[in-house]
Amino acid sequence: MDNKVGIYVHVPFCKSKCAYCNFYSLPESACSDELIQSYQGAVIKHIEEYSAQLDGYLIDTVYFGGGTPSHLGTGRLIAILNILKKSGHVLLDSEITVEINPGSISKEDLSKLRKAGFNRLSIGVQSADDEALKNLGRTHTFADAEEAVKDARAAGFNNISVDVIYGLPSQTKDSWERTVQLIAGLKAEHISCYNLKIEEGTGLYEYKDSPFLPDEDIQADMYLYAVDILARYGYKQYEISNFARRGFESKHNIKYWLGDDYIGFGPAAHSYVERCRYSFTEDVEQYIEQVKTGKRIVEHDEQMSDFENAGEYLMLRLRTVHGISEEEYYDIYRLKMDLVLELLKKYEESGWATFKDGRWRFTPKGFMVSNALIGEILEAQTRQRTQISKPWQKDPTGDETQMTLFDKRPVAAGLFGGRRLIGRNEFL
Ligand code: SF4
Repeated sequence: MDNKVGIYVHVPFCKSKCAYCNFYSLPESACSDELIQSYQGAVIKHIEEYSAQLDGYLIDTVYFGGGTPSHLGTGRLIAILNILKKSGHVLLDSEITVEINPGSISKEDLSKLRKAGFNRLSIGVQSADDEALKNLGRTHTFADAEEAVKDARAAGFNNISVDVIYGLPSQTKDSWERTVQLIAGLKAEHISCYNLKIEEGTGLYEYKDSPFLPDEDIQADMYLYAVDILARYGYKQYEISNFARRGFESKHNIKYWLGDDYIGFGPAAHSYVERCRYSFTEDVEQYIEQVKTGKRIVEHDEQMSDFENAGEYLMLRLRTVHGISEEEYYDIYRLKMDLVLELLKKYEESGWATFKDGRWRFTPKGFMVSNALIGEILEAQTRQRTQISKPWQKDPTGDETQMTLFDKRPVAAGLFGGRRLIGRNEFL
């Protein structure tokens, strides 16, 4: 049976650097046309080399993220997509997404992308307040975002997602409420609503303790307002920060949350295949050089143990409304979760979790504090592990057990032949 896999292509170029951005990307001033051209050549070569290893796999999602993929140029984006299609593994009904920024792409180019097979657009709107957009270093206005959605519709895109951020400096509840309503008025199929995180190394970092930032209580009210209003507009919450009209949930992002396989290309791209996580250098020139010369390309890699995978199940699925089930967890990992259940019952009393149809899920209030709750849950799982002693476990506290004998989770086979990937065409 063929396994499904998602493809991610990281495009590390932007017009300019936004004040809050922690993604690996270079502003226009730091990248020549020659560099962009070499990047495209390297990604194509990299994909061509991997194609031979895709036997037994079907690609059902492709995601061009960044950076600002539209900054690469329409012709180059299409050329990369065509190389993936040439591999013969891309399913006809694949979800093929490209991120764009308002004002970064013409109507004609949107039509070309649609005709080439891109069928989902993710537009970085971020706010409906032009002053806030300016302060964030965005190079567009809300009117540009409205125009971008209109152009995308005219080009034939019927699956559009928009991103918006709350918790911005000087943002009030009133201005946030106005933004949410204007964003909903764009009538996109999908909305991602992120909380501003001020990270070291970004332009906003020096304002991290600023009194102009909305405090935690205000941010909580903003989040709950968005959950409530978006539901009234027909957007169902399916993950902490993601809302969609029925049938328009992001198939690609769901792979990340359900622990499914995905393969990344480009600098800073991450992959998860056959329980191995690996990522490439965050330096586009180094990436180009490594692909060109055949040098080791993987910067970090980690083979996940069964117990780590069990932790990921709890951590990632609790981010979604899919939630977790005791039965499913035991079925997959042959582990009990009594201590986790004790915690979930307490969370239920606090209004942070609910139990329905055999599954535990966080409520919107629980999502708001999910980092802390998931931390406690993982601690409980570790405590539980040290308390159990099963005949199939050689050493309950050691890393390796015989649990895989009972693991019913479909394990990807075929790609990389079950071997551990350590670099381009290198195997352990
Ligand atoms: S456009 Fe996106 S990727 Fe580029 S700097 Fe701004 S937030 Fe970062």
